[in-house]
Amino acid sequence: MKARRPARGRKPGPEPDRKPDLMPVRWRELGGRVLVTNDGGDYLWLDREPFEALMAGKLKADHPLWAELARTEMLHDAAVEARVVERVRRRSHHLQVGPTLHVVVLTLRCNHACTYCHASRQPERRAGFDMSLETAARVLDVILASPAPDLTIEFQGGEPALNFPVLRWFVEEGRRRTADGSKHLYFSLVSNLTTLTQAQIDYLVDQGVAVCTSIDGPAELHDRHRRLPGGGSHRKTRAAMARFDAAYRKRRLDPALAYVNALVTVSRGSLARPEALVDEYVRMGQKVVHLRPLNPFGMGRKIWAREGYTADEFLRFWTRALDHILELNRQGIEMAEKMAALLLTRILTDDDPNYADLRSPCGAAIGQLAYNHDGRVYTCDEGRMVGAMGDDLFCIGDVHRHTYADLIAHPTVRSLCVSSCLECLPGCADCAYAPYCGVCPVYNYVEQGDLVARCATNDRCRIMLGMLDYLFQRLAEPGLSELLRRWTEVRDRSSVFEPRRAGKPAARAKARPAAAPPRRAKKGARRK
Ligand code: SF4
Ligand code: SF4
Repeated sequence: MKARRPARGRKPGPEPDRKPDLMPVRWRELGGRVLVTNDGGDYLWLDREPFEALMAGKLKADHPLWAELARTEMLHDAAVEARVVERVRRRSHHLQVGPTLHVVVLTLRCNHACTYCHASRQPERRAGFDMSLETAARVLDVILASPAPDLTIEFQGGEPALNFPVLRWFVEEGRRRTADGSKHLYFSLVSNLTTLTQAQIDYLVDQGVAVCTSIDGPAELHDRHRRLPGGGSHRKTRAAMARFDAAYRKRRLDPALAYVNALVTVSRGSLARPEALVDEYVRMGQKVVHLRPLNPFGMGRKIWAREGYTADEFLRFWTRALDHILELNRQGIEMAEKMAALLLTRILTDDDPNYADLRSPCGAAIGQLAYNHDGRVYTCDEGRMVGAMGDDLFCIGDVHRHTYADLIAHPTVRSLCVSSCLECLPGCADCAYAPYCGVCPVYNYVEQGDLVARCATNDRCRIMLGMLDYLFQRLAEPGLSELLRRWTEVRDRSSVFEPRRAGKPAARAKARPAAAPPRRAKKGARRK
């Protein structure tokens, strides 16, 4: 894989002796052919022989590949260069808005004791681990000082619903302070749902708070990992999901938009059962399954040794799950895998899918901030998890002592931007997948003791390479590209989970929840 700078000063033209004047391109050999990509995210498959002729400057202008190279904007001229610059700007939209996601840890207490839980979890009845109203007020000041017009406050824990009064305060005070329309505030709750009363469910539905939970597969698999004293975690979470569904239906909200999102944490016990896991999501009526690999952030080595796995083991699981989902799609069953859908959005459209870990630089601090229950602020929730293990490298201040401007100017923010900028990283700068990928400095620090990735020995890179190899090879199969293109279609759920004025009922919102411009498909890609 190498990058090649364009030879300047020659225009494409019809003279047969002319040699192509290339835009900067990268390439990767895959399945006996060569995948060539450019900075705008276009790609082209070439057989080995014409590829070598192209690189040696021996591909003449009357070769049939010339038209393909021009169509995919691999040939340089001033107009193509201007278009690619515009597309790169669009694909990096996040750099222009400031942090849109604000993760607020309402408590470290939890009623579960999951086998792969992070170090910060505290027993349900232990005092001293909830966010106070005083800290919440400081957190809200910082959030509202962020320049982004659309802000999402995501409640996390522990089990955040155990500190419901402070959740309510955020929703109501946040709405009150943005009632003049100066900001659009969205709220989401990441919860195991098992402590929620009917009154709390009604409140969340009425206030348009989006809800996300975890279902790790069929009951026996889920309950093996998600441990609730007395058992029955799967049954209780599914029962709460049903109560949400009933509450949405009662308010005549569109069931295609109003539902509880669920996602999977893949632990060692799930690796042998990808099909069962996907089928559980089909049974639940979900349209997307997010197969998240376990990450080592904030997790003790002992837990990783018990629950962790290699990149190859995860990739075998993931590709089997995707094969199964594609088979379901062929049978007319709607289902997609979230990570694949995000990567396909990077490959097939010019949109920023609003996912911190697939950006260059990544979203640490410039796309998201995480607020611990005690007011300490981290570059992201993963950085907070490292803090829970006693290493505050990713802590950039404290809401009791620092303003938004202080936090964002912290030198750690700059370090994370530089160390996650793919275009200047050894290994990534030359990688054909750089236009679609992202690196994680927190992962690199935890796994390799350095913010900068050493990709050749890095399991996260191996997983990204494996996923992208799979997707590009599947996209090249006859009949599959249209099917996979559908995975990039995003349902706009803002009419259900919309910003609302204090005390006013829901009104249909036009804005998309993510601060992103309208979607634009690449040439040949279907528009939404
Ligand atoms: S992380 Fe790996 S797959 Fe991603 S751009 Fe870097 S080298 Fe390529
Ligand atoms: S440092 Fe890692 S976890 Fe944090 S935002 Fe960047 S990619 Fe995501």
